[in-house]
Amino acid sequence: MKKITLLFILFSGCFVNAQRNCGMEQKMQQIISDPVKRQLHLEYQQKFEQELLRISNNTQYRSTQEAQSPENVNATIRIPMAFHFPSVSPSASTTLKNCLRALAQNQVNSLNADYNATNSDISNWVSASSFYPTVPGVGSIDVEFVIATQNHPAGTGITNGTVAVTFGTDFLNGADEDLTWAGYMNVVVRNEGGILGYSPLGGYPSAGWTVVLNTWAFGSGSGCTGYVPGVPPGSGQTGINKGRTLTHELGHFFNLNHTFNGCGTNCNLSGDRVCDTPPSSVEQYGCPSPGSITSACGTNKVLTMNYMDYTDDACMYMFTPGQMTRVQAWYNTISSEFNMTTLSNNEVVKNNFNIFPNPNNGTFTIRFNDLSDDYSVEVFDISGRIVFEDYYTQSSNLEQTISIDKPSSGVYFVNVKSGSSIITEKIIIK
Ligand SMILES: [Zn+2]
Repeated sequence: MKKITLLFILFSGCFVNAQRNCGMEQKMQQIISDPVKRQLHLEYQQKFEQELLRISNNTQYRSTQEAQSPENVNATIRIPMAFHFPSVSPSASTTLKNCLRALAQNQVNSLNADYNATNSDISNWVSASSFYPTVPGVGSIDVEFVIATQNHPAGTGITNGTVAVTFGTDFLNGADEDLTWAGYMNVVVRNEGGILGYSPLGGYPSAGWTVVLNTWAFGSGSGCTGYVPGVPPGSGQTGINKGRTLTHELGHFFNLNHTFNGCGTNCNLSGDRVCDTPPSSVEQYGCPSPGSITSACGTNKVLTMNYMDYTDDACMYMFTPGQMTRVQAWYNTISSEFNMTTLSNNEVVKNNFNIFPNPNNGTFTIRFNDLSDDYSVEVFDISGRIVFEDYYTQSSNLEQTISIDKPSSGVYFVNVKSGSSIITEKIIIK
């Protein structure tokens, strides 16, 4: 048994640096040193600050006035993605290409779970939260990352109906941006040595900017045999095996800084500039127990399970609401730059209704754009227990207020059934 353990340790040790290491700061150094890029960066950040202020004020207004603005719940955000494997030859086997396409989808699935807070390990927060009294809860955003399938750039050879996954395209000789792929949320997967990946802090799709991931930090599972011999994606790194490097790097693309970006007295201006993430100045690695590390900034505990720290994939599982407000503000700043014609209609047209406010206290409104049929509403808690159901006729008002009796706080799912369609939306009850 001892021999087996030793062999395992030796085998694990063959791989590169076992700690998370992100290249965002080096990337920003490059951008700041280029006068043109620096100026553009500053202009975007200025627009972002205005938008952040606007939606933060709206949130305060809504929470105090219970105003039922449709803006309270944005329609599901859809983000068209493209994945690029520059080191995989276009003549690689169909088996390998299909495996990498599946791995890209696997990566997208975990992104969607993490950003919507539907990841299976989010429940760990229930017991961890007592160590973090200033963190109001788990943050989420109603977003759907989708691998684009339509109207791909000319010359790329990808036909309509085929996912935007490229092989052997030399992404501008190894650069991080390529105007050919402007309008997509690009991810380039390539060998990056010891770092797991990087992104600019606040990226823009109109410039064809990308998030870069190291091969072994991409996706989860057993990877794809034959990709990079010995270090297949998703299987090459102890602790980096659940696809969360992309969750972290996309956080940077959507203007989230590291949670360990420093102390300071004004949370709006210092540290990560998110007021509900406890300040920290030292990155954390591995898998610390919740509440086990006191911040160098004061008496608070380090939020080691936040995606924007450096802990192992299995031990990071949440954003905060303040982080998601910043992500929303960055999305609003750049949303017009995404090329939505790259998604099929089926992907774009999903709902005909909004639910607001969300989060709420158990009372919320469903507003339909139109009613062409009778409909029913069911609300389930996370364990699948039904907590509300009712039936409404087509002649009902376009707005229906739903009240759940004595709800516990947490994640709930609202099923709206009409005709043969069922749409499920997530709500959070505080
Ligand atoms: Zn980072």
